[in-house]
Amino acid sequence: MKRTSILFVVFLTTFSLFSQTEFELIELPYAIDALEPVISKSTIELHHGKHLKGYVNNLNKLVKGTDLQDKPLYFIVKNSQGAIFNNAGQTLNHNLYFTQFQKPSENNTLDTNTSLYKEIIKTWGSFDKFKEEYNKAATGLFGSGWVWLSKNENGSLVITQQANGSNPVVNGLTPLLGIDVWEHAYYLDYQNRRADHINAFWKIINWKKINERYVE
Ligand code: MN
Repeated sequence: MKRTSILFVVFLTTFSLFSQTEFELIELPYAIDALEPVISKSTIELHHGKHLKGYVNNLNKLVKGTDLQDKPLYFIVKNSQGAIFNNAGQTLNHNLYFTQFQKPSENNTLDTNTSLYKEIIKTWGSFDKFKEEYNKAATGLFGSGWVWLSKNENGSLVITQQANGSNPVVNGLTPLLGIDVWEHAYYLDYQNRRADHINAFWKIINWKKINERYVE
C-alpha cells in the first residue's frame, strides 16, 4: 500500500471515530429566569436540566449501535417505536418548545403582516378564535401530551393533540408552536390549574420564531 493510501485510511478511521455524533442538550436562547412569572426558574431548571436532559441521555444510549445511530432526530421520530420513539419524540418536542419563548409581555402577539398571521385568519377567522381552539385542545387533552399548531405540506394549518411523547411529524406535518401539558411543565407554578398555565403561555411566545418555522 502506498504511503498516501495508508494516510487516507488513517484519516478515514479517525474521521469515523469522531463523527459518531451524539444528541446534545440544547442551550436556552434566554436566561433561565427570563420567562418568570409565566414559567419559573425552578420549573425551567427541572424541565430543561433534568427532564429534557434525561430524554437526550436515554436517546443516545438507546440508538447506540443501531441503524438509527447518526440519523437526524426527525428521521428517528418518524421511523421508531417503543422506548426509542418516546425519547426521540420528547427530545424533538422539547427542542422546539424551549426555543419558541421570549420574556413575557402583556401585549404579545403575532405581526399582522406575516404569512402565518394571514393563514391563521384564513383558517380560524380571527386570531382570538385560533387561540380559543388551541386552548380548548390543550385543556381537553386527557393525561400527558402535547398540543401543536402545525403546517401541512400545502401551507395550511392544523391544531393537533399528541399523546405522551408523540410529535406531528409522524403525521407528515411540520410542528410550529407546541404546548407541553405534562404536569412537569407547570405543576410547580400552577399545581393542578392547567388552564391558568395555558392562558399565561401566550405572553411568552416568540412569534417571530414561529413565523420563521412557518415560512421555512
Ligand atoms: Mn416536558
